[in-house]
Amino acid sequence: MNRIYNFSAGPGIQPVAVLEEASQAVLEFQGSGMSILELSHRGKHYDPVHAEAQALVLSSLGLSKDEYTIALLGGGASMQFAMLPMNFIRPGDTADYVDAGEWGAKAIAEAARFGSVHLAGSSKATNYDQLPELAPSGKGRYFHLTTNNTIEGTQVFDLPATDGTPLVADASSDIFGVHRDYSKFDLIYAGAQKNAGPAGVTLVVIRKSFLERAHKDLPPMFSYITQCEKQSLYNTPPVFPIYVLGLTLKWIAAQGGVKRVAVHNQAKAQLIYDALDACPSVFSSCVAVKEHRSWMNITFRLATPELEKHFLAEAKAAGMDGLPGHRNVGGFRASIYNAFPIAGCEALAALIRDFSRRNG
Ligand SMILES: *Cc1c(COP(=O)(O)O)cnc(C)c1O
Repeated sequence: MNRIYNFSAGPGIQPVAVLEEASQAVLEFQGSGMSILELSHRGKHYDPVHAEAQALVLSSLGLSKDEYTIALLGGGASMQFAMLPMNFIRPGDTADYVDAGEWGAKAIAEAARFGSVHLAGSSKATNYDQLPELAPSGKGRYFHLTTNNTIEGTQVFDLPATDGTPLVADASSDIFGVHRDYSKFDLIYAGAQKNAGPAGVTLVVIRKSFLERAHKDLPPMFSYITQCEKQSLYNTPPVFPIYVLGLTLKWIAAQGGVKRVAVHNQAKAQLIYDALDACPSVFSSCVAVKEHRSWMNITFRLATPELEKHFLAEAKAAGMDGLPGHRNVGGFRASIYNAFPIAGCEALAALIRDFSRRNG
């Protein structure tokens, strides 16, 4: 097997051990005589897979199942942009939102369909090159932020004080990649495909006392209450992605858990940031405030479009893929999720230094 350094922002790189086990299960699942793709979602083979994935999500985040519940849904994080306000706000209600990147802006546009949005902070005027100062309204039904701005390369390390307003996060691109006090959140949602498995499953972790405030008169597929009560088995869940999510969380536990993985992630990111900072005549970080730089998605530019073209070609030749920045932003983005090996970060850092020496 010849694996390249896959810097793709999502779907992102997965642990090889997980891919190997999952590929076996596609052929035959644990002596069942069937593929994981052929198992009933209401059968004795799948039941423990489902229960274990749910339990592992909570334990990996350090949350207790007495206090939190979880839904494993289809539709991506983008569906949660709408499902969240649908469940918690109505015309006349306010929800606070932080506008710190393109994904957050999409969440805001959906919330505005259901109630009024208080912009608790925005860095749009500077093209989201940093995290904004925050000013909660004090009357929000919840306070929404994006923990890691995947496209722009900023990450929230200090959670805001919301003075009792329930804290809600889109953690799609750094869940299980950074250690936080997750009990500060009342609801966390994340598509799995960045740091937690394949595309197709989105996890929603909800504090039970917050769930009680959700609307009850919604179509069942869009109701957090129904989805949680039915253990995400109201309809056929995304069986295979949930299975791989569970494998991925077991892999994280085997690495020493989220805390250990996070230390490793910071060290990986530092290698690349140090190289960028050492080569200012050619390279620059897209993030204006060093403390806001993401450990997951490292965004940078080169001095000229010409140099960018050459750098991309050299990176490709050296076995690095997925480096071009988001199509709306340009430049480069190195996404180095949990499964991304440190050797790949060393290789990119070395190329940055060498390229700068030759072109600076
Ligand atoms: C990738 C991403 C999304 C979109 O996820 P989908 O599963 O494609 O809907 C939303 N928010 C953030 C922060 C992301 O990184």
